[in-house]
Amino acid sequence: MKTVKTTFSEGIPQALAKGHCPICALIAEFQERLIAGTQSCEISALCNYHAWSMAKAAPADMAARIFVQLVDRTRDWRPSDPDMECSFCERVDEHELARMEEMTEQFERAPIREWMKLQGSFCLRHARKLNDSLPEDLRDLVVQITVRSRAELKDELTSLLAHLRSGDRTGWGVLGRAAEFLTSQRGMRR
Ligand SMILES: [Zn+2]
Ligand SMILES: [Zn+2]
Repeated sequence: MKTVKTTFSEGIPQALAKGHCPICALIAEFQERLIAGTQSCEISALCNYHAWSMAKAAPADMAARIFVQLVDRTRDWRPSDPDMECSFCERVDEHELARMEEMTEQFERAPIREWMKLQGSFCLRHARKLNDSLPEDLRDLVVQITVRSRAELKDELTSLLAHLRSGDRTGWGVLGRAAEFLTSQRGMRR
């Protein structure tokens, strides 16, 4: 069973890491807490991604208890029943909204803007959302950050391909960052 990280430092400034979207990082951390059971959440249904995360990574007694409840709920199931909303997805949506608001506020601070400009990244989803919420004069910066990140990713991917041709897996971590850049953190609803 995968070890679930239970220590975390919530907040945009703590989540800044070169090459990673800070909002995705905080969402990943939040999901780990949901799966570890350290973040309270009433569960009435789970989507494909969150059910499998629970099966693979949650403490076994917690996962078993929750699956008993969910399986019990299917007692009167009929094929025509609509799918229920995933409880984790609903919580992740709320968390994303709160972190986006925090990012918008943090972006007003010059040191954060400067750091993001030189080293930071946003995934395309969060760049788009941030662009929608920022005042006009800051939107260009989001585009600059995204253009730089994209170019860096392309370089790293090209260099990984060159390494792989000689059987060397150096730099394979860029694959996860490319997935994040293109589609944001796993488990997000579109
Ligand atoms: Zn993101
Ligand atoms: Zn879900």
